Amino acid sequence: MRIVFLIGVFFVQSVLGAIRFSNSYYSSRNRERSIRKSTSLIILHTTEAPSSSALRKLRDNGECHYCIDERGIVYRIIDHRREAYHAGRSMWRGRTNVDSFSVGIETCGYHNKPLNAAQYSALLALVGELKYIYKISDHNVLAHSHVAYGAPNKWHKRSHRGRKRCGMMFALPSVRARLNLKSRPSYDPDVRARRLTAGDAYLAKVLYGAVPQQQAVAALSAPGVNVISKGRSAWDIAREAYNKADTVYIFPDGAQKRGHQIPDFRKVPAGTKVVVNCTDDNLPETYQTVGINGKAQDIAGEEARAASTVYVYPDGSYKRGSQLSAAAVLKLPYGTKVLTGYAVGGPVTASRPATSICGNRWRSPDTFFLINGVLVPGDKVDDSKIPVGAMLFFKS
Ligand SMILES: [Zn+2]
Repeated sequence: MRIVFLIGVFFVQSVLGAIRFSNSYYSSRNRERSIRKSTSLIILHTTEAPSSSALRKLRDNGECHYCIDERGIVYRIIDHRREAYHAGRSMWRGRTNVDSFSVGIETCGYHNKPLNAAQYSALLALVGELKYIYKISDHNVLAHSHVAYGAPNKWHKRSHRGRKRCGMMFALPSVRARLNLKSRPSYDPDVRARRLTAGDAYLAKVLYGAVPQQQAVAALSAPGVNVISKGRSAWDIAREAYNKADTVYIFPDGAQKRGHQIPDFRKVPAGTKVVVNCTDDNLPETYQTVGINGKAQDIAGEEARAASTVYVYPDGSYKRGSQLSAAAVLKLPYGTKVLTGYAVGGPVTASRPATSICGNRWRSPDTFFLINGVLVPGDKVDDSKIPVGAMLFFKS
């Protein structure tokens, strides 16, 4: 045991010397996890949540080996030689339970957004060291979405790829280049061998095709991405959360139902908005736009006139729903952006920075700064350039 420990320290100090590690979220689950017999894959994940909530969950459940926060600090969660429960239902080249032969790295970010520079450099170093330690080639460094698969459900008669879009961006050549990964798989071996069906054509295009990064980002953060339409089912939007009590369906007539109250998903009409509140959701919260996603009363439903609904007009001004009459809601102009379930904070001043308004949520991708009339997500804001007087909207 002592020798193993010394070897561990050696790697930390020499090979892994450039990485800023923290043990402050080391999981007590280590005790119950067995040592893997082999390690042939590195699986990259995105937490779909900020570190403030993700780290605790990952530690409590022992769900990864490492987690990289927004500052590029690498938290050890599970000893890299032991099994972490990060891949769930998974298969690669016919071999299931990927947890038993892989190392899992979470990055605090979103499957359809680029990482920040500190995260890229931490991940580059960490992946480099793990490739070296376990002799893993570049095309065996995969995204969780490469290996996750789903059991049959209402939409897929057979087991299918596409259960998750987690870490999807890590398949893009432009992202891989920043991680010094020179190759990637060119096809899905389990779909090709008919062990699985292809359940998400768009995901397959991102993983194996030639989708430029900007296009991948735009398509997945576009307004309407959570509205049911021809060719876009509740499953496409909510994945495994489609029938959960915390997934809300807002019908075109404004009526709402929760996932577990819907008897027949094939009868949910086009135009129904699906709001996924489950923490495992792959889609970050964003705003809707009047005229593109429907009328304000369709977008915000019963909350159209609530204080927690914020309307940002095309001229850059804003009002809360509680400040509007029913008639004014009906007359909101085309292009008005609608944030539902949000608190209004600000203005930012020299003595009252964003962090004192909403804590570390200020940098969350679902927090929006109103800067010169434009909504800027918290993770895209340059904190040295937030102008005095900026308002911010954060999830309440
Ligand atoms: Zn994942």
